[in-house]
Amino acid sequence: MKFNIKNLIRKNIDMLNPYQSARKIGGQGNIFLNANEYPSSIKFQLSSQILNRYPECQPKNLIEKYSNYIHLNTDQILVTRGADESIELLMRAFCNPGTDAILICPPTYGMYSVCAEILGIECKEVNLLLNWQLNLPEIKKKLDHIKLIYICRPNNPTGNLIKLKDICTLLDISRNKLLIIVDEAYIEFCMQSTLIQLLNDYPNLIILRTLSKAFGLAGLRCGFTLANKVVIEILNKIIAPYPISIPTSNIAVKFLTKNKIKNMQQNVMKIHNNRIWLSLMLNNCKCVEKVFDSETNYVLVRFVNSQQIFQKLLHHGIVLRDQNHSVNLHDCLRISVGTFTECATLINILNNICEK
Ligand SMILES: *Cc1c(COP(=O)(O)O)cnc(C)c1O
Repeated sequence: MKFNIKNLIRKNIDMLNPYQSARKIGGQGNIFLNANEYPSSIKFQLSSQILNRYPECQPKNLIEKYSNYIHLNTDQILVTRGADESIELLMRAFCNPGTDAILICPPTYGMYSVCAEILGIECKEVNLLLNWQLNLPEIKKKLDHIKLIYICRPNNPTGNLIKLKDICTLLDISRNKLLIIVDEAYIEFCMQSTLIQLLNDYPNLIILRTLSKAFGLAGLRCGFTLANKVVIEILNKIIAPYPISIPTSNIAVKFLTKNKIKNMQQNVMKIHNNRIWLSLMLNNCKCVEKVFDSETNYVLVRFVNSQQIFQKLLHHGIVLRDQNHSVNLHDCLRISVGTFTECATLINILNNICEK
């Protein structure tokens, strides 16, 4: 009999629908508005030339710099290979495959459910309401066996903020029972809305952060988990021995100085202004049905015929993110806010397409 490696695969991996990253989907183009990246490359320098030694598991200097930025103690911070690594670490630390579950509120970031599936952990879903807010009564009914609830705030791909009041209700009803993970990947675009100040009141709150979005360093792979020190200690038990390469921490530290943080905030302002302009122009576009409000560096847009628009833009070298497969997002495309030139090019081409 022929040996078939595929017969050895874990059943859940065999059945897995893998995460479709923008990079994996690909697409030929010259204007990439599909991954919520910062639109231009930010200059960096690498000063350490030492690579024969293993790095520190949790580079002290980097943790200190981040702690200065967000005004938390160093023992409340874990540094990871992007926020994505922490999404998985939390499930591995807290959920028993087969018995425990996580809860998510779609449409939301795709990695939560993909991670759960890979680890064999059940993922329960309570859809967001049509105003993209939490359906708290339904969530309350589904809390059995839940260990972790993942809330993306501001939410990807809808762009809105879940109400603070609802988050507090959720934290209250889950106190002493389960952990609430708030993914703040885009929080620098609406910094006043961070939940950091709640960390000291709620030991069941965990916040995820990243340098991939507002800091413009998606290629660096560096994220942070903020929580009480007991949670950080638990995650430190299971994280890989050397998750952060020496070049990564070396570069990340340089982007967390007062000056660089000011630069980041100026870049955020530029993206903010481009977003306001882009949303306005999209609203005037004939083939646009609705532009959803956004607090982030992307906008969700419902088109009259999104498939056609998506393909025609692709033909012109503009790559957007198709959201048709997600709950309640039929005919929706997600558009990352690029440079002003990129936004203007998009609007020009879109207006041409829609006139015909
Ligand atoms: C981009 C993104 C992440 C991943 O961030 P990395 O730090 O690059 O791994 C996490 N959560 C959300 C909601 C994102 O959009």
